[in-house]
Amino acid sequence: MTRLFGTNGIRGVVNQEIDGAFALEIGLAWGSYLRETRNRLKVALGTDTRISNCLLKHAVTSGFLTTGCDIIDNGILPTPTLQYAVKNHHYDSGVMITASHNPPQFNGIKGIAPDGTEFPKQTEEIIEKYYFSKNYTTVTWDHVGQFSHSNVAINEHISGILKRVQTEKIRKQKHHVVLDCGNGAGCSIAPELLHQLNCTTTLINCTPDGLFSGRPSEPLEKNLSTILSVMTSEKASFGVALDGDADRAIFIDNTGKYLMGDKSLSIIGRFYAQHHHQKLFITPVTTSTVFEEVIIHDNGNVEYTKVGSPIVARDMIKKQAVFGGEENGGLIFPELQYCRDALMTIAKMLEILTIEEQPLSELVKTLPKYEMIKSKILCPNNKKNSVMQRLLRNVQHTQEINKINTTDGIKIFIDEGWVLLRPSGTEPIFRIYAEAKTIKDAEKMVAHYNEIIQQLIDKK
Ligand code: MG
Repeated sequence: MTRLFGTNGIRGVVNQEIDGAFALEIGLAWGSYLRETRNRLKVALGTDTRISNCLLKHAVTSGFLTTGCDIIDNGILPTPTLQYAVKNHHYDSGVMITASHNPPQFNGIKGIAPDGTEFPKQTEEIIEKYYFSKNYTTVTWDHVGQFSHSNVAINEHISGILKRVQTEKIRKQKHHVVLDCGNGAGCSIAPELLHQLNCTTTLINCTPDGLFSGRPSEPLEKNLSTILSVMTSEKASFGVALDGDADRAIFIDNTGKYLMGDKSLSIIGRFYAQHHHQKLFITPVTTSTVFEEVIIHDNGNVEYTKVGSPIVARDMIKKQAVFGGEENGGLIFPELQYCRDALMTIAKMLEILTIEEQPLSELVKTLPKYEMIKSKILCPNNKKNSVMQRLLRNVQHTQEINKINTTDGIKIFIDEGWVLLRPSGTEPIFRIYAEAKTIKDAEKMVAHYNEIIQQLIDKK
């Protein structure tokens, strides 16, 4: 069966891959699935700042109301803020209209389960089944769903965060923070959160703008020239840039240096390893060895999952992990909720700087040094399986390999470091990630496996 949901919900270019008629049917399919259990279900809805949000929001709402589900519209807010509301208010489901960090022509629909986590694959498959069979549950005119607004989610999320960090200590420190919301959903909450933590702020791209006029939505270094230049002249504890739906936060240290996501993941992870009895940490196979080394150093234990934040979150629930997340700035704090949360990430970083009494740049210096390269090679979708099987046979007979992990793709450990070979789930490519102590060794691994994969692709 064709899939509608990808790694991060449904996503596409508006009025090409995803339009109002489609969103209406998603509402019908989703509502029909919810009605399998009982009547009068309550579904929370939210959007990021994209200009196509109203188009999709009203269409998907119409589908839900037709099946007899009520919709509670929470307006513009981050994905983790809606997730917190779903869990807190015991809603039966959550619908987030967002395409996260994608360019403004994209939009998407993300599903939230009653516990506030992103939909598991099984739920998505049931909704897809309804969509393809067109077997929708509709109600008579006197039982159609009702539509209402709610504006409490943002304040509740902020107070949830303030209860879970050492708020008074942070407030006394009076941090200065440079904040770049990228004109996305973070605008609705991040400045207020910092205000309530008694921080002074320099705000960049903190007005909602669905065309992302300030900068592209993904907080990559090349997209952050404004905040990087502001940071060179400001005396700030840190700069922080959010993606379009504010589930990911990327930091710039007090000296103006861009920090890859593995740095903040490791600094915050280490704080948990040092201050908590529970010592299990969860992260996907793509994460840098830096994280594992700092956690092990403080007697913690790291377990790896497949790529995808819902997978990490669910594994954390199952194993009662103390902390986890991805190396793209998506960090998960179980004491608040099991999903990536950029707002909690900002508050936690302020807490760590307050307690450690050290600038962020100094904390970064204490991390082990590794070099990672991310590369890719074109591979037709229909060849991915056979290439994977042959690759596995090939590497199993290679002597210099110390260990192979097949959690997601093939991760090969040699003396110099590791290389991960992984077919993409959405694009006709093989991803090659390599990490070593020196950039030369990482490059060597990429070149070596690039050649092997190319040979396997070319083989008849
Ligand atoms: Mg996002």
